[in-house]
Amino acid sequence: MEKYDVIIIGTGPAGIFAAWELISSNPKVKIFMLDKGGSLAERVEETKTGVHKAKTEQPDVLSCGWGGAGAFSDGKLNLSPEVGGFLKDYIGETELSSLIQYVDEIYLKFGAPRELHGTEIQQIRDLADAAVRHGLRFIPFPIRHLGSDRCIPVLGGFLANMEERVTLRFHDEAAEILYRDGKAEGVRTKSGEEIMGEFVIIAPGRGGSRWLERESRRGGLTTLTNPVDIGVRVEVAAPVMKSLTDIAYEAKLVFYSKQFDDPVRTFCMNPYGEVVREYHGDICLVNGHSYSTRRSNNTNFAILVSTVFTEPFHEPIAYGQYISRLANLLAGEILVQRLGDLLQGRRSTPERIRRGTVPPTLTDATPGDLSFVIPYRYLCDILEMLQAMEKLTPGLYARDTLLYGVEAKYYSMRLKLTAHFETEISNLFAIGDGAGITRGLIQASVSGVVAAREILRRQK
Ligand SMILES: Cc1cc2nc3c(=O)[nH]c(=O)nc-3n(C[C@H](O)[C@H](O)[C@H](O)COP(=O)(O)OP(=O)(O)OC[C@H]3O[C@@H](n4cnc5c(N)ncnc54)[C@H](O)[C@@H]3O)c2cc1C
Repeated sequence: MEKYDVIIIGTGPAGIFAAWELISSNPKVKIFMLDKGGSLAERVEETKTGVHKAKTEQPDVLSCGWGGAGAFSDGKLNLSPEVGGFLKDYIGETELSSLIQYVDEIYLKFGAPRELHGTEIQQIRDLADAAVRHGLRFIPFPIRHLGSDRCIPVLGGFLANMEERVTLRFHDEAAEILYRDGKAEGVRTKSGEEIMGEFVIIAPGRGGSRWLERESRRGGLTTLTNPVDIGVRVEVAAPVMKSLTDIAYEAKLVFYSKQFDDPVRTFCMNPYGEVVREYHGDICLVNGHSYSTRRSNNTNFAILVSTVFTEPFHEPIAYGQYISRLANLLAGEILVQRLGDLLQGRRSTPERIRRGTVPPTLTDATPGDLSFVIPYRYLCDILEMLQAMEKLTPGLYARDTLLYGVEAKYYSMRLKLTAHFETEISNLFAIGDGAGITRGLIQASVSGVVAAREILRRQK
């Protein structure tokens, strides 16, 4: 039976960067990559034709396959150790900053645009000063924006350079990690085939987190509970947010709510963007993105409340899914409500939305009442944050502002890992969003590089 040097489960940014680092440093390394989704070309074709919508029993084409969730993401490369994950806790800020620069250069090589947003220092300082006066903390960082339309060519560039140099298998799912005497030795696929390797890197993304949780339990790995983030996606006319988005592109604001002292934050701001759906198995969530060339008249962003549950509760993902399902139950999929209707205690109707000044970019969201879905505590937190932001961006806390539900981030449980992301089973590494250590493209990519470098070091 053929034995590989490295098996990589998942071809999202984390898996791709691990493989890229390995083959760039050692062209002889034998790598096997598998992904339950399809190739890039297949994914693009399926989204174009809409055929994926009928294939509910198959892995979601928007998040599974070459490029993972990055393929149809907004492609914002957040170039700061402060955002997009927890890698700082493992490798320290200096090393992380230098690796962010390293992966950014690789993205540039594959066609990311040179233009950077959020670099006008005086304007950024003024924005931070204004934010703090209203109880908000502004986290400044430079952003390179690929836009949803440029993600595919960039990921296609990686694929073209790698497909001859690694063994790639799509539409195949890792079912079990194989290990013996505390050391990884391969993977068993869903069809029962065993693929053997000296090292195994697990990079299954958020979509694979439930599977990884089960596998961790089976392997007796220590897991730490990550917070679950629950909230809404806010959509307003773009001029309302212009004073923020022109300067920072994505304004990361953090707020501690007065009533509950919960951390509340803005997330994934999309100037002139569109609100979109995101599927996780049978659950439909809301998200947003924007294009580099096409503009809507609206800006959208998420407001998320982070909750860390206390003992004995260990099921934050199940909790997040429960609330998301409630929205799906009441609305079919995504629910939308005008802020004014929520404040008046009444549901939004198609007529009220139509009369509003913000035409929804997710045109078939169901008008309804978010107070039936989102717990009181979260709603209070979200409203307080919007009120605080109103002072920074007048016109936000307005009747016609749209709130879509539910946006939830059930970050995977965090596995106990070394500083090189090796698990308690030797030669088994876990990286990216699935391991619960990253939350974005850049840090997911960095985690791949770190694991690969450790493997290269041991192969010497
Ligand atoms: C709509 C949307 C917009 C986003 N916009 C941004 C943005 O602008 N900026 C940003 O930084 N981040 C953004 N993100 C987040 C970003 O996409 C992720 O952080 C990143 O893709 C994580 O990379 P990953 O490799 O860890 O996992 P993923 O990209 O999720 O890839 C994991 C891969 O593993 C495969 N897999 C899972 N389980 C198995 C298994 N058992 N066997 C085989 N294969 C498996 C999946 O099919 C998938 O292809 C966005 C996400 C979404 C959904």
